[in-house]
Order: sequence, then C-alpha cells, then structure tokens
Amino acid sequence: MKKVIYPGTFDPVTFGHIDIVERASDLFDEVVVTVAKNPSKTCMFSVDERTLMLKESLKHLPNVTADSFDGLVVDHAKAIGALGIIRGLRAVSDFEYEFQMALMNRKLNGELTTIFLMPHEKYTYLNSTIIRNLAQFKGDVTDFVPEVVLEFLKKKSGK
Ligand code: ADP
Repeated sequence: MKKVIYPGTFDPVTFGHIDIVERASDLFDEVVVTVAKNPSKTCMFSVDERTLMLKESLKHLPNVTADSFDGLVVDHAKAIGALGIIRGLRAVSDFEYEFQMALMNRKLNGELTTIFLMPHEKYTYLNSTIIRNLAQFKGDVTDFVPEVVLEFLKKKSGK
C-alpha cells in the first residue's frame, strides 16, 4: 500500500489543489490531504471548515481522505504511515520555498520523499489568496473553486 500525504493550508481549496490531488490519486494507493494548523498564518476559514470543504470537494475520489493536524508534517506522515509528501509546483516562484521545505523535511526524516506535481497550466496562476481577495470584493470565482467553497465564501460575506 503506497500512501502519501498532501499537506497545505487550503484556505480555501481551489481547482489547482484538486488537480494535484487527482494526479496523486492516480499514482498512489491512498492520498491523505491534510490541513496543517499554522499559527503564523491568519486564515479566513477555521481548520474544521477547511477540512470539511476538502472532504466535500474530494468525495469523487475513493482513495482520498482529508484530515487535519497540529505539528510537524513529518510527524503526521509517520503517524499515518505515509511514505511521501506531495506538493504542487506552479511556477519558478514556488521553487525556492518548496526546495527549502523538502530539504528540511528530509533532514527531519530521511525516509520521507517529497514529490512535486505540476497542475494543468490553466491553474498555474491560481492561489487561495487571490480567491479570498476576489471574493471579498465580490469578484466571480466560479471558474476556480468547487461549489462547496462558493457556498462557504457566500456565508462568510454574510450573503
Ligand atoms: P501552503 O501554505 O502550505 O503553501 P497552500 O494551501 O497554499 O498551502 O498550498 C498547498 C500546496 O499546494 C503547495 O505545495 C502549493 O504549492 C500547492 N498549490 C497551491 N495552489 C496550487 C495550484 N493552483 N496549482 C498547483 N499547486 C498548488
């Protein structure tokens, strides 16, 4: 059983994230998408809301589950028996940060391999910050996020 973990903030999940999960679910037996509780980030949605949106938008993939954790990704990966960490690479701008993280995680646990996947090019400019900003100013985000996220964004803006 080859299990991998895909950690992130997912505030909120976008079609870019889902593209990466779909690719990972084709390659591995099991994919666990994990909402990382990051105290240094101020999020729009709570950990529970982000996990719920992930669960709902990934339910078409039978070998994918979503959860959350508080602590180091390498510790959670070990606890659930994952052999690799999935991360998405959109552009060169992602590279430096992702490279540092991958090397640090490898230093912390030499048995864990970070695997980078590229989304379809139509998602390379997409990130959660753009979605939050667009939604705040009532921009149309229907092409970028699943239905459940649209509902949560509407609720947040009190409409
Ligand atoms: P983090 O704060 O950990 O970067 P994100 O939720 O922003 O969390 O992203 C989680 C992972 O998904 C990262 O590896 C990021 O590069 C990747 N990612 C984010 N948006 C996209 C996208 N549009 N296409 C592909 N990968 C993406």
